[in-house]
Amino acid sequence: MRIVVIGAGLAGLSTALMLREDGHSVDIVTRGVGGLLLSTGTLDVYGWHNDGHPIEQPYEAIDELVSEQPEHPYAAIGADAVRAGVDWLRETTGLFAENSGTNVLMPTAIGAVRPTALVQNTMTPALVEDGKKYLVVGIKQFRDFPAQFIADNLARTPLAKVEARSVTIDLQPRKPEVDSTSTTFARALDGTAGLDGPATRDALAHELRSVVREGETILLPALLGFSPDAYSDIAAELGVAVGEVPVPPPSVSGRRINDALVGLARKMRVDIALNAQVVGFDTDGSRITALKVQRAGRVSTDKVDAVVYAGGGLESGTIERDSYGTIRERVFDLPLIFMDPEDAQAKTVTGDVVVDGKDIFGCGVKVNAEMLPLADGTPVYDNLYCVGSLLGGARPWSEKSGEGIALGSAVAATRALRKKD
Ligand SMILES: Cc1cc2nc3c(=O)[nH]c(=O)nc-3n(C[C@H](O)[C@H](O)[C@H](O)COP(=O)(O)OP(=O)(O)OC[C@H]3O[C@@H](n4cnc5c(N)ncnc54)[C@H](O)[C@@H]3O)c2cc1C
Repeated sequence: MRIVVIGAGLAGLSTALMLREDGHSVDIVTRGVGGLLLSTGTLDVYGWHNDGHPIEQPYEAIDELVSEQPEHPYAAIGADAVRAGVDWLRETTGLFAENSGTNVLMPTAIGAVRPTALVQNTMTPALVEDGKKYLVVGIKQFRDFPAQFIADNLARTPLAKVEARSVTIDLQPRKPEVDSTSTTFARALDGTAGLDGPATRDALAHELRSVVREGETILLPALLGFSPDAYSDIAAELGVAVGEVPVPPPSVSGRRINDALVGLARKMRVDIALNAQVVGFDTDGSRITALKVQRAGRVSTDKVDAVVYAGGGLESGTIERDSYGTIRERVFDLPLIFMDPEDAQAKTVTGDVVVDGKDIFGCGVKVNAEMLPLADGTPVYDNLYCVGSLLGGARPWSEKSGEGIALGSAVAATRALRKKD
């Protein structure tokens, strides 16, 4: 089958690779890179109940979530597909720790503590557990990691009994920069882009050795290289537990996942057309027969056997709110579902969160178990599959389910297409 995947976020890249593994001819058409470059690089399956309590067993809790919220995408996807998707990413990238099925607690870039299903190997030592003593290490030349603030917050978390103190070290990855981004630090520690890897790693290890005390776990911002070598070298040289804490974008840890999947796509001959936007389609009434793709100012018509739509949600512009306040899906004009608001007065800097009594952040497409979008309970097209944050009925950012929805829907769509072969 010739399948075009629209979008190159976690959902699009994962579905494309899974379909390629099944032997399909797969191309990705994408307007830009996806949200992975902005993400923390951890895998959220289900972290917080909407009453605010942390979820311990995310896969087991999916049944209860779905009975409380029948429109949640997990109702169509199923816990088994979510787990299969997370396991697939773990095995495919080699970046992640074991999937025990239990949530772990991860410090954030402000020292709050949040549950997540899976963290990268470089983050495992940072996990928040009773009795740990943390040394939070800020870097003078890196502004996005307020070490003192993080240590103070960690020491106060109600979720575990830990101690934390902070220090700030000096590490200049590129002269004459006064401030550097996490990307520059990662390149310097990797020794790419003309930067001196061994010298930067030695300088970091030297600084850390001079400040760490017996029994402490060092917490550093997640900037310890794009390849795993820099982290393992530094950890081995120090002989002390060192863990990365995700920081705001540009996200080195998110990019590691992106690069692993894009690299695999190249190896498996999945073409990724960047700066290519799907602007329309042809249909015979029940099936999508071709996509209209705009590349460099001209629109071409690409014939397809099936389409996987992984265009993202409101945050990627796939679902838009026009100047009249109407909210719609841009390419196929798919019907949308909305959630009831948690707070009817909620506002953001850009305007109301609640429009016509509905929360715009939970909106998206409703799908059946095959990931086919529905209108009044019937698939809109027989060969259009929707995955990822395009699916409505969830609040991935607050309940922490974004990666679980992306990976689970990727598995569900792949299984559905397998049956049609
Ligand atoms: C800043 C940020 C922080 C987040 N934090 C969390 C979190 O803490 N916890 C959590 O659970 N989830 C979080 N999420 C959500 C989670 O990361 C996503 O749900 C998940 O990555 C799946 O994304 P996606 O692949 O569906 O879409 P995206 O990553 O948004 O990718 C959409 C892709 O579609 C492309 N595209 C869109 N329209 C078209 C078109 N017409 N033609 C061609 N290409 C198109 C875009 O260019 C992009 O490549 C966050 C997302 C963002 C952006």
